[in-house]
Amino acid sequence: MGKLNVTVLRYLTRDDFRVLTAIEMGMKNHELVPGPLVAAIANLKAGGVHKLLRELCKQKLVTYERGKKYDGYRLTNTGYDYLALKSLTLRGSVSSFGNQIGVGKESNIYVVADDETNPICLKLHRLGRTCFRKIKEKRDYHGRRHKVSWLYLSRISATREYAYMKALYDRKFPVPKPIDFNRHCVLMELVNAYPMTQVHELEDAASLYDDLMNLIVRLGNSGVIHGDFNEFNLMVTDEGKAILIDFPQMMSTSHPDAEFFFNRDVICVRELFRRKYNYESDDYPKFTDLEREDDLDAEVHCSGYGFTKEMEADLLQAYHEIEDVEDEESEEEGEEPKFIENEQSNYSEKEISNYRKQLETEIKFTEKAPPSKTDDSIRR
Ligand code: ADP
Ligand code: MG
Repeated sequence: MGKLNVTVLRYLTRDDFRVLTAIEMGMKNHELVPGPLVAAIANLKAGGVHKLLRELCKQKLVTYERGKKYDGYRLTNTGYDYLALKSLTLRGSVSSFGNQIGVGKESNIYVVADDETNPICLKLHRLGRTCFRKIKEKRDYHGRRHKVSWLYLSRISATREYAYMKALYDRKFPVPKPIDFNRHCVLMELVNAYPMTQVHELEDAASLYDDLMNLIVRLGNSGVIHGDFNEFNLMVTDEGKAILIDFPQMMSTSHPDAEFFFNRDVICVRELFRRKYNYESDDYPKFTDLEREDDLDAEVHCSGYGFTKEMEADLLQAYHEIEDVEDEESEEEGEEPKFIENEQSNYSEKEISNYRKQLETEIKFTEKAPPSKTDDSIRR
């Protein structure tokens, strides 16, 4: 655990940002993005782009690799982190970076500060990075098969987390206040509480048990299941109040497997209390007890954050497939970058103009005020 390497945030230019974003856009459909395609999307002079790319390789924000059919660039973790953190900084949501405070199954957690130096929590989603080879291949819009990338999964994961947290917070559920998100990063209130993994004794186990079961039921009546309701994702304040965190795997009570996941959450609490706090109760909720009072699930789907049913399915599948697979992302030296001007190009004017539009949207979005500073929190 350490600090985020953010020195690079200070000296990279708008053109660097543009080139990195161009690679990001290209990676939606290419595992490696050929130099000329990067230049075309970034819409900068080709020679200039080559120079920028060399520098970005040196900074390890991108790597140049040889593929089976062609060579090209791809973003590294650091490059993707940079894009998100730079965006959050430009938006005024973050002004300085601090230490790592936690590491979850699929994330790194840091303390950062907002523009009034208040400490807030930054969660970097790392989903898929460790398991993307195991995830089913998908077809892009040319019908070519490619792997679902960690970029894509981490981004949906963060977006879902933000959307659920916002809907829950608005309904006064005990969750951190969501502040902003960008790409695979979520900013939220820094909770002043301990994860239950660190809580070895409870003053009033019975009352916390009841609170947690009531929370599961209240979620269910609102149309959702947390799906990972365990001692890592439950925090307890000094007053003994529970705070729920970690939302990307949440699902609707209308999901075909809803009952299974509901029961699993309930069993998780019962087991935890029996094992750790020596507390057992016959009083626990059943899925059939639920009475729908709200449509939080539907609201999240319509929130306009731009994730579809298909993305949701990809993500939930990924969560269920994650096993302890070794980290496959290497930040080692790539190939020496080359810029092949007349490279066989399999991308059309239409594709390029599509990417360019996405790039402009992405860059415009970066400069827009974060939701916590405007009334209109629904974007795109
Ligand atoms: P993962 O999805 O990787 O499991 P979590 O959201 O569960 O990540 O966070 C991992 C750990 O980081 C938590 O167990 C908790 O200790 C800490 N943490 C997460 N969010 C916050 C927060 N808002 N405030 C304080 N600590 C947090
Ligand atoms: Mg967790």
